Amino acid sequence: MDIYHELGVKKIINGWGTITKVSGTLMDERVLDAMKEASKHYVLVEEVHAKAGKRIAELLDVEAACITSGAAAGIAITAAAAMTNGNKARVLQLPDTTGMADEALILKCHRTLYDQALPMTGIKVREVGTTSFADIEQIEQAISDKTAMFFFVAEAEPMRGSVDIKKIINVLNKYNLPVVVDAAAEIPATSNIKKYLKLGADMVIFSGGKEIRGPQASGLILGKKRWIEACNANCCPQYSIGRPMKIDKETIIGLVKAIELFVSKDYERQLHQWEEMSGKIASLLKNKGLAEIRTGYPTEPGIQPVNILRTYIKPLRKTAEKVFNELIELPTPIYSHLNGNELVINPQCLTVGEIEFMCQSILKVL
Ligand SMILES: *Cc1c(COP(=O)(O)O)cnc(C)c1O
Repeated sequence: MDIYHELGVKKIINGWGTITKVSGTLMDERVLDAMKEASKHYVLVEEVHAKAGKRIAELLDVEAACITSGAAAGIAITAAAAMTNGNKARVLQLPDTTGMADEALILKCHRTLYDQALPMTGIKVREVGTTSFADIEQIEQAISDKTAMFFFVAEAEPMRGSVDIKKIINVLNKYNLPVVVDAAAEIPATSNIKKYLKLGADMVIFSGGKEIRGPQASGLILGKKRWIEACNANCCPQYSIGRPMKIDKETIIGLVKAIELFVSKDYERQLHQWEEMSGKIASLLKNKGLAEIRTGYPTEPGIQPVNILRTYIKPLRKTAEKVFNELIELPTPIYSHLNGNELVINPQCLTVGEIEFMCQSILKVL
């Protein structure tokens, strides 16, 4: 039985990465076993949510954790937490923000396609600076009694118009306002789990369905106890703005198991394996007169994680765009990342066994 075949759905080769469009990552069997086990009993969702959050905080060695249905849900829930402080009447009032400080400050160059999750809570997004410039004085100038939070996107840190997060935290602290960091795809390095908390950020958002390799529809907010309590007040199963971003017991338990495996994983070895895979891909594609091949790390901001070695393919006979489009039209479609006149293959979601077949298909299209 092949469940996808029955539906007429194609199975693809994911040389792109932990991108939701291509279904993120695959879960370890042990995560799936834990989810199956969780599915066999009735429990109080609120209790599982709270106790699993506590367990995850212990495993990651952070103050507190709130489990969400993804990093984008985390963006909405942190905004709701910042506006309501967890006050129940306010929680129920959203997205009507009457009587609340309801502005989220964000650097203009930190805008992403995910931050639509901010205004859906009722919060108003207020941009600071231009795409190529901003400074800490402009940020301080923008703070008023309407300010509820600062929203910082980790992957936009290297942008020209960004500002040092330490300076931002210092200024926001002065006004007793929380700094939220969207670090959804910043793993590896595993040290990034604590990096922003150590710098003093109040809430840091991660995807559970990216390198943590938990259920696709899971995520985490890590942070200070008082803010995580405010997040929980705005989260399923509470009636709140977070209620439509529901998370079931199987997903919660799956995420706990994934994090257990994640913290005991040897990432030095894993990074080395990815290097070997990219080396193998490069050697299979090289010297065929069809493309210029190199390996390297991404340098353009917004491409995460940065420390996984990729293979870059510059086609010589067709445009990269044409090759990209032909690859996704194959009977077994191959997804890569299109970057200017190069295709980029990220080994993060590939298996060693797929490499030969993938490279043969790429050579045919080239
Ligand atoms: C992937 C990503 C998200 C969304 O994460 P989900 O877990 O899929 O909701 C949000 N922000 C950034 C920067 C991301 O890379």
